[in-house]
Amino acid sequence: MPSLPVLVLNSGSSSIKFSVYEAGDGERNKLFEGAVDGIGTDLGKFWIKDATGKRLVDQTPALPTRAVAFELVAKALNSEEFPTPAAIGHRMVCGGPTVLENQRITPELIDEMERYTAFAPLHTPIAVYIMREAARLFPGVPNFVCLDSYFHRTMPEVATHMPIPEEYSAMGVRRFGAHGISYESIVYQLQPNVPEKLIVAHLGNGASISAIRKGKCIDTSMGLTPTGGLISGTRTGDIDPGVLVFILHKIAEKTTSAVEAANQLEIGANKKSGLLGVSGVSNDMRDLREAIKAGNAKARLAVDKFTWTIAKWIGSFVAELGGLDMLVFTGGIGENDIDSRAEICAGLGALGIVLDAKRNNVRGPAVISAEDSPVTVRVIPPAEDLMIVNHVVRLMGE
Ligand code: ADP
Repeated sequence: MPSLPVLVLNSGSSSIKFSVYEAGDGERNKLFEGAVDGIGTDLGKFWIKDATGKRLVDQTPALPTRAVAFELVAKALNSEEFPTPAAIGHRMVCGGPTVLENQRITPELIDEMERYTAFAPLHTPIAVYIMREAARLFPGVPNFVCLDSYFHRTMPEVATHMPIPEEYSAMGVRRFGAHGISYESIVYQLQPNVPEKLIVAHLGNGASISAIRKGKCIDTSMGLTPTGGLISGTRTGDIDPGVLVFILHKIAEKTTSAVEAANQLEIGANKKSGLLGVSGVSNDMRDLREAIKAGNAKARLAVDKFTWTIAKWIGSFVAELGGLDMLVFTGGIGENDIDSRAEICAGLGALGIVLDAKRNNVRGPAVISAEDSPVTVRVIPPAEDLMIVNHVVRLMGE
């Protein structure tokens, strides 16, 4: 394939991030990247910077709706200043039980993925909106979907199947996992020396952890939705289902609408729980570390629950993998929060995980394990956009 501009679109609940690569056979050259952030506010941010970091656009527009936000991006990218994309890659958390492969987007495919919005309720609505708008605003340009669940498709049935009645399984309920594009990018960056037994912890606002054997996922902490698994910034993580049933009954005492009750429960589990729910302070690790320094016991408890849960998952994954060669930290907390890494690894010496305090005192890529640690521990930033470009180039060539 000759070198062509490939646009990558990666949307969150209040932001749309994008980047443009010049990509062809073997060539991956990032031209620029940008974002609109603060959707739903009067003072959003819209910026584009080139590969050297020079700001090409730097605005603070009102972003009342996602439509206004995406229109800004599309208008800028359709202007003469920027190359018109030859292909567009979209990040999608989960496309539901029938859409497991990365592929070219059609209107029918979008409709099918939208049927399973409940499988990634914070991410899917804006992602499908942008897919439809991209087809309208960039007519004739092929669009491709890149799924987080794609990396987890190698999990065995014992990991994906849920212990529920068959009628629920038939609705598509199973474990899909998320953050797959990040995991894939870590394996990609470790090539050609991908360790046989690898654990990657993606610790950001959403947090998850995966067990990877010979480059293939065998288990991951998130389940049907990104609400499961580790405790996250605002999400419960795994929780006794009886808790949700109890709270649903409590909500039902005050509303007769089942939809309203489900929505309230969803907001409680997805937006008010996790680090925010336990601490009552913030979902942001930086704020929590400040609060801990100031002696806030609830912030301490929230972070302890976070690191304790991750250490337990590491233990279970070591059992599943039959040992461990390498542990990788990634995501905003994994890359930057020195204390979280130290606290997670503090009790894991028996598993061969020994950090070097000096080496761990770092933000960004590094080996942070002690010289004689049986397990190598590394910090590696994800390269999700690059992975999406790789998939788009592959799919264009098919
Ligand atoms: P998202 O899931 O939204 O992509 P990120 O991967 O950007 O999230 O991670 C956000 C988290 O990373 C926040 O909890 C934030 O506090 C944390 N973080 C970012 N920078 C630092 C830092 N320097 N020290 C500690 N935590 C940090």
